[in-house]
Amino acid sequence: MKIRFIGAIGTVTGSCTLLTHRHRYYLVDCGATQGNDANDGPDAKLPFKAAGIAGVFLTHAHLDHCGMLTQLVKQGFRGNIYCTRATAELTKLALTDAASLPAAQFSANDVDRLKFICLDDRPEFQFGKSVGLEPNFSVALIRTSHVLGSVGFEFQFAGARDGKAASRKTIVFSGDIGCNVDGNCYQSLLNSRQYPSTHAEYLVCESTYGGRDRDSRFTNYEERMQSLKQTVLKAATRGTGATIIFPCFTMQRMQELQLDLHILLEQHLDEAELGQLNFGTLPEIIIDSPLSRKYGEVFSRELLRKRANGKYSYLNPELSGRLNLDHESLAELLARLFGKDQNNRGFRNYTLGFGTPANHNHSGLRIILAGSGMCTGGRIMGHLRRNLPNENTTVVITGYQGGGTPGAELMKRAANPNAAIDGIPWGIAGHEIKATVVDLSGFYSGHADHSGLLDFIFSKNSSLPYQALKRVFLVHGDNQSRQELGRAIEDEAQFANTSKRQVERVEIPNPENRWFDLDKNKWVWDFYPQVELAEQAVASGFGRLQKLEGMLMQFCEKSSDGKAVSEMINQLNIAKLHLASARQV
Ligand SMILES: [Zn+2]
Repeated sequence: MKIRFIGAIGTVTGSCTLLTHRHRYYLVDCGATQGNDANDGPDAKLPFKAAGIAGVFLTHAHLDHCGMLTQLVKQGFRGNIYCTRATAELTKLALTDAASLPAAQFSANDVDRLKFICLDDRPEFQFGKSVGLEPNFSVALIRTSHVLGSVGFEFQFAGARDGKAASRKTIVFSGDIGCNVDGNCYQSLLNSRQYPSTHAEYLVCESTYGGRDRDSRFTNYEERMQSLKQTVLKAATRGTGATIIFPCFTMQRMQELQLDLHILLEQHLDEAELGQLNFGTLPEIIIDSPLSRKYGEVFSRELLRKRANGKYSYLNPELSGRLNLDHESLAELLARLFGKDQNNRGFRNYTLGFGTPANHNHSGLRIILAGSGMCTGGRIMGHLRRNLPNENTTVVITGYQGGGTPGAELMKRAANPNAAIDGIPWGIAGHEIKATVVDLSGFYSGHADHSGLLDFIFSKNSSLPYQALKRVFLVHGDNQSRQELGRAIEDEAQFANTSKRQVERVEIPNPENRWFDLDKNKWVWDFYPQVELAEQAVASGFGRLQKLEGMLMQFCEKSSDGKAVSEMINQLNIAKLHLASARQV
């Protein structure tokens, strides 16, 4: 097997890796580049031949991992997309929503052409258990708990024959790695992340938070609920008409927040505190995001999915205890919270509403959750425009804010309550902005931090013997993050410690790297015309030169300037030589 890194090398978007085994070609993820990395313009071209790809393994439904699937199909891909049921359904919703944006280069019909194979629909499915794909080629899924349905892939294949038997090799693609771990599922919805198996020899690992650790209080459930409580109680001191706005990512973050707010209001407040939130009318929570409603249906169904062993596939095992609910009551609650059950919106201590509120003048405490997470567009913009000039507004940031985004502008005021803010994104003057901004993003990150990544790479949770990791390839991080994580892995690997997995070498792939051959354990410079566009370009160059040669011969018959003709033939032959040598690179 050989692998080739296509995207998310030195950046955190555009995830895509090619792999080939016995003349078949697969992709792990096919993501869009976003923000400063974006180059998915009107003619976004994939840097390989889509028709040559037999299948895609999709780790999760974020657009930076799935956003180019429609381009792949438009450019000739006819294979299957292998993933979990939750990922398939969330991906279809995310792409259909993206298709409705003015800048979209694809339609909802293109999304309908995607063929998903849901590996966890098989009755015998278990995480970590191999599913055969071809003779001597199988895949197992590792739950990564980054978003609902997210997995890493562990491919096992028969390597080159050394001696009599073909050796078995294993490569793991982490996808994005979440935060919940065994014994500390502090984020509300998802179960703990899992680890590469004992026989993993190669690991392609994300490195988003390489070099950056979060304070330990951020990984504590009680601390998060306490911070949320303080934020809500303080916001309510602003009295009648107080508004709390949560700009948030619609997939996973919004559902997590909804559940946290539900637990806070229904369980964590005493009578006196509830009184502080009640201005003659119960507090209301408003979910203003049609997309999150659609995601919510998938959440209320897939969170309750059980495996053959009777355990939940994804649901946080601590949740039933926190809520003190059995399976049926939990199913009912999730349906109510996430909008499937529209007739039942009243709770003991608050009311829940969906959609843009008809009346913007309210006396009670209003809590609004709306997309998008970085305040770059969508319904959140109207809420901010209306409420930022009010002193009784509190904006709560719950996710990473990319540099230069309106969300990053708001964050200035979380660090310094008097910071000047540019109001242009909302069409208001900066000095008019009177709202308070609170940063809770550390509590809600969907990515493991530096220590979490090291834990994923080095931890042993089995008593069976472990293979050493021959190579760890770091992707999905900027270069500084990759280098800092790489150095930390090398430092850790220096000390022979039997309680940890061994790592032989770290690789930081760059766009110039060609194929890495897992049988030879080294980089190679092979060409695969079935998938490589460079080969296609060379072939088309030859075709054009041949046409030119024919035209030149016709011209020679008529021309008397022998010197000019021989110079032209000379130049033509040099061009042919250049193309021929390009083919052999
Ligand atoms: Zn992701």
